Amino acid sequence: LGSTVEVEGAEIDEDPDEDDLLGGLKIDTTSEISIPDRLVDQVIGQEHARDVIIKAAKQRRHVMMIGSPGTGKSMLAKAMSELLPKEELQDVLVYHNPDDGNKPKVRTVPAGKGEQIVDAHKEEARKRNQMRSLLMWIIIAVVLGYALIIVGQILVGIIAAGVVYLVFRYLNRGSDAMIPNLLVNNADTKSAPFRDATGAHAGALLGDVRHDPFQSGGMETPSHDRVEAGAIHKANKGVLFVDEINTLDIRSQQHLMTAIQEGEFSITGQSERSSGAMVQTEPVPTDFVMIAAGNLDAMENMHPALRSRIKGYGYEVYMEDTIEDTPEMRRQYVRFIAQEVAKDGRLPEFTAEAIEEVILEAKRRSGRKGHLTLHFRNLGGLVRVAGDIARGEDADFTTREHVLQAKGRSRSIEQQLADDFIERRKDYELQVSDGYVVGRVNGLAVMGEDSGIMLPVMAEVAPSQGPGEVIATGQLKEMAQESVSNVSAIIKKFSDENISEMDIHIQFVQAGQQGVDGDSASITVATAVISALENVGVDQSLAMTGSLSVRGDVLPVGGVTHKIEAAAKAGCTRVIIPQANEQDVMIEEEYEEMIEVIPVSHISEVLDIALEGEAEKDSLVSRLKSITGSALKDQGVS
Ligand code: ADP
Repeated sequence: LGSTVEVEGAEIDEDPDEDDLLGGLKIDTTSEISIPDRLVDQVIGQEHARDVIIKAAKQRRHVMMIGSPGTGKSMLAKAMSELLPKEELQDVLVYHNPDDGNKPKVRTVPAGKGEQIVDAHKEEARKRNQMRSLLMWIIIAVVLGYALIIVGQILVGIIAAGVVYLVFRYLNRGSDAMIPNLLVNNADTKSAPFRDATGAHAGALLGDVRHDPFQSGGMETPSHDRVEAGAIHKANKGVLFVDEINTLDIRSQQHLMTAIQEGEFSITGQSERSSGAMVQTEPVPTDFVMIAAGNLDAMENMHPALRSRIKGYGYEVYMEDTIEDTPEMRRQYVRFIAQEVAKDGRLPEFTAEAIEEVILEAKRRSGRKGHLTLHFRNLGGLVRVAGDIARGEDADFTTREHVLQAKGRSRSIEQQLADDFIERRKDYELQVSDGYVVGRVNGLAVMGEDSGIMLPVMAEVAPSQGPGEVIATGQLKEMAQESVSNVSAIIKKFSDENISEMDIHIQFVQAGQQGVDGDSASITVATAVISALENVGVDQSLAMTGSLSVRGDVLPVGGVTHKIEAAAKAGCTRVIIPQANEQDVMIEEEYEEMIEVIPVSHISEVLDIALEGEAEKDSLVSRLKSITGSALKDQGVS
């Protein structure tokens, strides 16, 4: 169950080289890869979630899936619907209720029967209407004949004929009301239904009764004909998928809970002032398996009773973001590209080199050494853009060139913003990438998930009138204070300077940009403060990122790859990163020649690299530069 899927239809080298991005597959293009029929076998990674889905399908249990967008939640939900038995499917019919027009009757029949019943009713009504028409025309002829020949009054004849006509029309309307409304039709359904109710409004989720502008006078549409099924009814015997479950309004969540509990739910008009609100059907079956999805916040904001309902009667799974990079996995990624090409139907097949480039991107986007990203929606976007470029050129195949071009185009909004930001700052010459400046350090930050920006930090130190203060502005204030207090603990050990008696001003140049996460700038702040304190210049062709411990250790941070690329784009030639992040570096080839990456593990190394010239003997900087982490420990700084 849920075992790994072998890629079929192509020759495989069982023990491939580590550099072989195709994991030993001997293919020229994606056309040689065969794609499994079942959706559940097409799912890549997410082994745990896949096992749960297969198990839950057997037991008809609800599932809660938590994880990042585009990792396969709706794909798995759909896959589950394929695994549910098809035999149980039902059609649902709504009938006119002669006793109470506002309480239509509901009947369920085996799938396929619904259409037959409606057709039979229609046929019957047609025959009846035919008979009636015939009868009507005979009566009209008799009335007209009588009026003309016997009485000799044409006008009376015409009026009488008109009355006869209207009476018959009215009767025929009644016979239409006898035709049931086929609310749920599963005649052509190949597998159990799958309904995606993400972001559905109440009517689409719970069903609705249309408003009737002609509410009386015999002109109205009979109420049972105005009833519309909701996703909960269409998902009967199948799967109801709701992503971003927490965004569903509370009332809808409550109703959803009722539907799950009772297995049936009456349909009524959802807008209070409409005539539909007077109508309420008999209960309509809602025997579905619910798959609720969302990110971590979704769990907090979700109706607790609904969550415990799912938890109590089902499973909760967490979706993975990355997966270990193995030859077997790489082969599955090759199949992923083949799947996306097949799904789209119009993209030229990918060449081996193009596939390699996509897999390289999957490695890069994972942000972790030895891993591949499982954010497949985005990766699929790259595949489609590359294929579209190839198609636009009428190429026979999608090549590596196309993928490289696509990478430029399928940049996220944040990346585009970041690039724009860098451009604008160049215009204003806020970016400095050469020479030495006292108190100014090129820090690096991440914007959004996948783009870096250079974020210069400036520090100024002045004796304080009262107790010293750290003055920083904006959202990064707390981080600045923390890194200053860490660096002051270190400085205290090595000099007589007591920076707690000074005012330290810290400015993040143009950090007003939204979504900038500067949490990893603490070695930057520390370096800027020491530079300002000692009046030593900082190399501006250098950028840095890293977190600082109170002992002076440089701790790992997130997004190093994007940060390094941002530094290179901004014109820096060297960049300092935490040693612990060395394995996460997966920069694009073009940047490799532009910038030298220097991993460090202690603030002393940072100062050694960043500060100008040889420090004066016995100065604070020289002492700081010469120490190591262990030396600090020996000194008792902790
Ligand atoms: P989610 O519901 O988690 O936001 P989807 O299931 O809608 O993500 O994924 C979007 C598309 O990305 C899918 O239609 C599929 O083509 C691809 N995809 C996502 N996850 C996977 C996966 N684990 N294996 C293969 N393809 C995937």
